[in-house]
Amino acid sequence: MAILNAKIPEGSLAEKWTQYKNSVKLVNPANKKKLDIIVVGTGAAGSSAASALGELGYNVKVFCYQDSPRRAHAIASQGGINATKNYQNDGDSVYRLFYDMIKGGDFRAREANVYRAAEVSSQVIDHYTALGVPFARDYGGSLTNRSFGGVQVSRTFYAKGQTGQQCMLASYSSLNRQISKGTVTMFSRREMLDLVLVDGKARGIITRNLITGELERHSAHAVVLASGGYGTIYYLSTLAIQSNGSAAWKAHLKGALFANPSFAQIHPTSIPQLNEYQSKLTLMSESLRNDGRIWVPKEKNDKRHPNDIPEEDRDYYLERRYPAYGNLVPRDVGSRAAKERCDAGYGVGPTGLAVYMDFRDAIKKQGDKTIEAKYGNLFQLYDTITGVNPYKEPMQIYPSAHYTMGGLWVDYNLMTNIPGLYAIGEANFADHGANRLGAASLMQCSGDGYFILPFTISDYMADQIKTPRIPVNLKEFDEAEENVRKRLEKLISINGTQTPTFFHKKLGKIMWDYCGMVRNEEGLKKASELVKELKHEFWTDLKVPGNLNELNQEIEKAGRVSDFFDLAGLLISDALNRKESCGAHFREESQTPDGEAQRNDDEYLYVAAWEFKGEERPHQLHKEKLKFEEVEVQVRSYK
Ligand SMILES: Cc1cc2nc3c(=O)[nH]c(=O)nc-3n(C[C@H](O)[C@H](O)[C@H](O)COP(=O)(O)OP(=O)(O)OC[C@H]3O[C@@H](n4cnc5c(N)ncnc54)[C@H](O)[C@@H]3O)c2cc1C
Repeated sequence: MAILNAKIPEGSLAEKWTQYKNSVKLVNPANKKKLDIIVVGTGAAGSSAASALGELGYNVKVFCYQDSPRRAHAIASQGGINATKNYQNDGDSVYRLFYDMIKGGDFRAREANVYRAAEVSSQVIDHYTALGVPFARDYGGSLTNRSFGGVQVSRTFYAKGQTGQQCMLASYSSLNRQISKGTVTMFSRREMLDLVLVDGKARGIITRNLITGELERHSAHAVVLASGGYGTIYYLSTLAIQSNGSAAWKAHLKGALFANPSFAQIHPTSIPQLNEYQSKLTLMSESLRNDGRIWVPKEKNDKRHPNDIPEEDRDYYLERRYPAYGNLVPRDVGSRAAKERCDAGYGVGPTGLAVYMDFRDAIKKQGDKTIEAKYGNLFQLYDTITGVNPYKEPMQIYPSAHYTMGGLWVDYNLMTNIPGLYAIGEANFADHGANRLGAASLMQCSGDGYFILPFTISDYMADQIKTPRIPVNLKEFDEAEENVRKRLEKLISINGTQTPTFFHKKLGKIMWDYCGMVRNEEGLKKASELVKELKHEFWTDLKVPGNLNELNQEIEKAGRVSDFFDLAGLLISDALNRKESCGAHFREESQTPDGEAQRNDDEYLYVAAWEFKGEERPHQLHKEKLKFEEVEVQVRSYK
């Protein structure tokens, strides 16, 4: 049985990280050269980790399935990245960011990790600025910022609506610098299909070369998973279509605990689904809620053009329900409020599943030019997709699957319960509790990669210096490669009639309908049965054309969808187990009379970390009790 020890250092919250850094074991430069580290992923987390570890002198091997590391999904991040610079003097501080995240996550995150993420946030911004990220600046030349949901200060730094792209280009440059120095070796178009354990330690991975289909073995003294989130389990989501949960799932099958899988964030402001053939949804950044006012008509089925609906006939429902935060309530609250209005019959657009986000007042006050400077590319994106000009009439938006707070369980070192296996960025569960605040992911991913992992990994690597390079001809590598081969052959040999996408779409619909924005026991039990039936259908009627020894995107998809079936089962079990509402996990049975989430701290003040016990056997639940020593656990209110 896995033993949960979060390894949180002693001392006060504000001193833990400094003291940790002062006392962590170090590896001398000559020894670093003899130590290998595998990093899976080149997004905000992976590229920062790989370049920082390379700069330290380790031998780093980095993997991604895209053709270029800079195409990792992080490049799509739009709105910004948080840091506690307090340039505005509006009361920001490390403590306040920490508190906002703890409260935003509905008191389901680990205090020490969150505080540290807030603590390194300023270093992250300084680092990106030094690397040349063109963050927006004010008249005097200082970096400027804006607000995001769930906070009352301005701390989100941005590069128009392309913050992730600019940060990724910076990290990609750092990565390239290390590649040219020879400290980092890049393996693009490789998909990790298994983790290799030797004597219980993570010692390597099996990858598939996506161009040739060849299976490859890679060994190292430690493995870092920076493989992103699994929001695409809902099929339609704001994520890149290829994003998937397989790397984390493979590690889970080898013993890594999976924490809070049901904490999946539904973002309130995505362009609504237009038809059944869509394969993804497009996010309209949360930054737009700084100036966009959200409303629906006061009358049901009001078919007037939005510009013809006068002020007195509009219901600015977020401002009405949550006067303290208004349009900047956190995402879970904003999403549920939109759903509530639409379900009650006030939704707009052809399907009735949309609400307005309106810039009329902001444009009147600030002028077209200012709004364009802030959001120009997002307005253009909206116009291109919908044919509607948001300078002239309101956008239509609706919630969509977006981000997964759940992920591999890690301790304070960002190490999973498997020695030598680390998980960083969206792939781990650590910092966002039951709901992530906007612009806190780039911050966490980059903080993990640039400023946290490089310290914490040395604690482990210091004990590896006597371990010679790991050979790849060990029996553990033989077995792992054989298992991967067998699974691929099984998938391709079914030779049924339906594509992987057909099953993915159906699975996504089940998850969205029964395990999305709201959940209840009856629906979850039904979802569990439906997923089992669909999984059976998948394994009997899947069609994967082509061969294994060639470029074959269908076999790639089939592998990812097969893992999604198992992950979906766990996600549902986790949602069933947590008989409370917290953050994005809203159980209809647990709500206040006015429809707000009702936590049950007596019974569920814990991280649910699930252990795989074998095919067709139920997972075992381990509980990491959450201790709040520096904040008072309160009812989370944005009124
Ligand atoms: C549309 C959109 C906008 C967003 N805007 C913001 C924002 O403004 N601010 C903010 O803070 N956050 C934002 N987010 C969230 C943020 O973008 C993500 O949480 C973050 O990018 C995750 O980064 P990551 O490095 O953990 O993973 P990713 O960027 O998803 O990278 C995953 C990497 O892992 C690799 N990988 C995965 N599996 C395998 C495998 N099996 N084998 C080999 N390689 C593998 C991939 O190739 C890729 O390189 C946004 C998200 C979306 C969807």
